[in-house]
Amino acid sequence: MEVMLADVVVVGGGGAGLAAAVEAAEGGARTVLLESEGATGGSTALSAGHTAFCDTTIVPGGREALYADLIAAHDGEGDHGLSRLYVDEAGATCEWLAERGIHFARSVQLAKMSRPWAHEMPLSGKGGGAQITEGLEQAARKAGAQILPGHRARRLHLEGDRVTMLDGDGPEGAFRIRAARGIVLASGGFTRNAEMIRNWGPKGADKIVPFTGAGSRGDGLTMALALGCGTAYMAPGISPTGPADPVTGKGVLMIYAGAVMINRDGQRFHRESDLYSDISKAGMSQPDTLMIQVYDQRAKDYFATTMWARALTGFVEHAAPDLPSLLNKLAEECGLDAAAAAETIADYNRSLPDGDRLGRRHLVGDSGQATPVDSAPYYAAITRPGTSHYNGGVQVTTRMEVKDVFGNVIPGLYAAGEIIGGFHGPNYMSATQVGKALIFGRIAGRSAAMGDDSNINQVATSR
Ligand SMILES: Cc1cc2nc3c(=O)[nH]c(=O)nc-3n(C[C@H](O)[C@H](O)[C@H](O)COP(=O)(O)OP(=O)(O)OC[C@H]3O[C@@H](n4cnc5c(N)ncnc54)[C@H](O)[C@@H]3O)c2cc1C
Repeated sequence: MEVMLADVVVVGGGGAGLAAAVEAAEGGARTVLLESEGATGGSTALSAGHTAFCDTTIVPGGREALYADLIAAHDGEGDHGLSRLYVDEAGATCEWLAERGIHFARSVQLAKMSRPWAHEMPLSGKGGGAQITEGLEQAARKAGAQILPGHRARRLHLEGDRVTMLDGDGPEGAFRIRAARGIVLASGGFTRNAEMIRNWGPKGADKIVPFTGAGSRGDGLTMALALGCGTAYMAPGISPTGPADPVTGKGVLMIYAGAVMINRDGQRFHRESDLYSDISKAGMSQPDTLMIQVYDQRAKDYFATTMWARALTGFVEHAAPDLPSLLNKLAEECGLDAAAAAETIADYNRSLPDGDRLGRRHLVGDSGQATPVDSAPYYAAITRPGTSHYNGGVQVTTRMEVKDVFGNVIPGLYAAGEIIGGFHGPNYMSATQVGKALIFGRIAGRSAAMGDDSNINQVATSR
């Protein structure tokens, strides 16, 4: 078999892999990026692209405040060194993206945020994560990185104690590639790997509906496990992170535009403005795990003005000219108790704007004013607990070197993005998965390009 040669090989072309490839190639390393699917993008391109940054022109300063928010959102757990690294590198990463033509337009305040950390792409463009990955792919190609779609990495090989080679399958069959300086695993999460979920997840986790990229099979995790990598938060990281339409496999977030969420008995069970993962966790114990989002034309119009409308589309939307007709339709579709639902929604409408019995006053987190569901026509999405990512994965150093089960570095092997565990602990704040991919992807690319000669002081970029 012919052996391809490179300095740095990056596995996966989502946000983390593309950021790594740009850094490695711009750093002078011959860089090859392998992407298993027909095109790059991964979950990052499907995402709303909300990216939590501090220290930017949009949100000046705030390192300590974002750090405190991160630690609180991570339930006080996880690797605090990685949280510190995140906030220290956030501003520089936002600027680095802008220098490569990727400009955020504004920022929004989502659940668990004390300030509007979530930076957004302009609504006028392609929008969301797809705009970020498109820009990064252009930057990677410009820097000379070779991008190979349809090439799936399968196994890593050691020479001595160092990872130097990788086998995979491509359009022309099996291939082998040697990396003189390092291999970066940026293959995303394992939300579509039924066996991993069965082994590590709680009972019922197999019912969680993934709305992630097709490549989220945990390939990189499997390859790293074969070399004895350490892992962090595998089990607590497996829980639903957002409502999904089980028919189309699409995420649905009408609650943040003003929808009320009820269970099959017609009862609300969680404040809709809270973090979608907390709501979805509560959904796991509802009858038949049904989480029905009921909304009106006002909410639908507002949703169209948000970035979510770019990413979270394609779900089945039930519609009716009046609320009783809609609820009767839902009774036929999924067994909703229509009479109880009508009473619940009337009660909800009466309680606003002062705050309803679950304390909802806002659309999302502490921002936006919750509005009654009373503006015809009416709509609903029948959803169940789904997921956009899991939080657990391989353990890394602050240089994104993969650690083994004893905490020692596996020479030549780096990882970044959703594949890593420990940054989030068991829980997370919105917009930090894309942030984690971009910030840590850059560090992994730089570290791999420098090989063993680098040290953390060279890696950190302070402005
Ligand atoms: C609908 C949706 C909305 C979301 N919205 C947000 C948001 O707004 N903000 C936020 O912070 N997070 C969000 N998330 C989560 C976030 O998008 C992801 O966790 C993050 O982008 C993952 O980045 P990544 O680069 O690690 O992985 P990915 O973007 O998934 O990229 C991994 C890539 O590796 C490829 N790959 C896999 N296996 C192999 C292999 N063996 N060989 C070669 N290539 C391989 C995959 O095909 C994929 O292209 C959202 C997720 C979804 C699905």
